[in-house]
Amino acid sequence: MKVMKFGGTSVGKPHRMHEVANLITKDNEDKIVVLSAVSGTTNSLVEIGNFLSANNKAEAKTKIDALEAQYRSFIKELVATPEALQKAEDVLKEHFEFLNIILRISYNEALNKDILAQGELLSTKLFSIYLGEKGIDHALLPALDFMSIDANDEPQVEAIREKIKTALAQHPGKKLFITQGYICRNAKGEVDNLKRGGSDYSASLIAAAIKASVCEIWTDISGMHNNDPRVVNKTIPIEQLSFDEAAELAYFGAKILHPASIWPAQQYNIPVKLLNTMEPEAKGTIIVEKAASVGVKAVAAKDSITAVNIRSSRMLLAYGFLRRVFEIFEKYRTPIDMITTSEVAVSVTIDNDASLTEIVRELESFSTVGVDKGQTIICIVGNEIAAHPDTLKKVFESLQNVDVRMVSYGGSAHNISLLVDSAQKTDVLKGLNSGLFGLN
Ligand code: ADP
Ligand code: ASP
Ligand code: MG
Repeated sequence: MKVMKFGGTSVGKPHRMHEVANLITKDNEDKIVVLSAVSGTTNSLVEIGNFLSANNKAEAKTKIDALEAQYRSFIKELVATPEALQKAEDVLKEHFEFLNIILRISYNEALNKDILAQGELLSTKLFSIYLGEKGIDHALLPALDFMSIDANDEPQVEAIREKIKTALAQHPGKKLFITQGYICRNAKGEVDNLKRGGSDYSASLIAAAIKASVCEIWTDISGMHNNDPRVVNKTIPIEQLSFDEAAELAYFGAKILHPASIWPAQQYNIPVKLLNTMEPEAKGTIIVEKAASVGVKAVAAKDSITAVNIRSSRMLLAYGFLRRVFEIFEKYRTPIDMITTSEVAVSVTIDNDASLTEIVRELESFSTVGVDKGQTIICIVGNEIAAHPDTLKKVFESLQNVDVRMVSYGGSAHNISLLVDSAQKTDVLKGLNSGLFGLN
């Protein structure tokens, strides 16, 4: 059995959904198809939630109506028969009635998660109606019946496996299943989600849970490229990556994959393919245990980073200092990405600054603390980067006019990380594109 996940653009227009139906019926292998929301829908739902949390019901209502109008024309192009159109209208009625009822309820975070779930519920139900119209035998598998996160907001593959088995067993003989990406239930049983871009994570978790033959991530570009195509002009696809390389790229900003989406596939050794819905014949990228070659493969950038510099005149030879520092970050459940140290100071970076004030207050009880917001981590990823003696030389030659705030090298064999001010990100990515890859 295999998993095929289609992102927002891949289901973003009625004719794209038609194309997805072709792609999932090309071979006879049993499959679970994971769909994102129609592109733009989750952004609209976020805005609706924001308006409601600000008690701006009028704007929320305007947004809901605009979204409904968009779906009304979508379904007219999606299906052809009056019966299928009626079914699609009923689906819209159900979900837009729900959003309109929410306008009358007082806002809370749990309700917001329900709002955010509407996108994937709509896309899968509408797609299922289209498949039904085409006579393509399948079953709709509600993700809320099996996808779950624990009290620490972490998904557990074993728990998902048990529940998905039960869900699949309700459809004996079926070979094709359609389910929602992104949405899940939390430890309280409420509707929740795997954070923005989380459909990739859903796909990888499902692939791990059912021990799929492959996890295919279908998107709008032919595989992982060597640099961010939104920032630099010329990028090239990478044929093969190791799980470690792909995980670093995803975590450090390559938007094509959700930051956490590699570990489930890696843990159960399931190959991940990145493929292009608009160009299905293109090779794309295959992600497997072993890297294909030695050297630098790609660079990625992660924005909205905060650097915290912790200085103590008594740090010199003071064992226990780093432990005290790390315990404070642990206490506030704030992961550290980069670390550099000198004799008198340590600098760390975080991307979640929700508890920054408390962290700084506690650190100040034994050190002097400096905070720099608006930073970007540039991550240079490859296999045995250190094996190539000229890599570091090329990196620094590419960065001659850049003020590099931190450098991290040697922590793993596949990563060099740099911290720069976000204003310099574009220059750095362009400089590395020509310096490391000879691309302009
Ligand atoms: P989907 O909706 O299918 O999940 P996303 O928009 O989340 O698609 O991810 C695909 C996009 O990721 C591409 O269109 C591209 O602009 C962006 N991207 C950023 N970095 C990379 C990279 N290194 N390689 C490929 N795509 C990248
Ligand atoms: N629809 C969700 C989002 O836009 C999940 C996803 O597309 O992966 O973030
Ligand atoms: Mg995505």
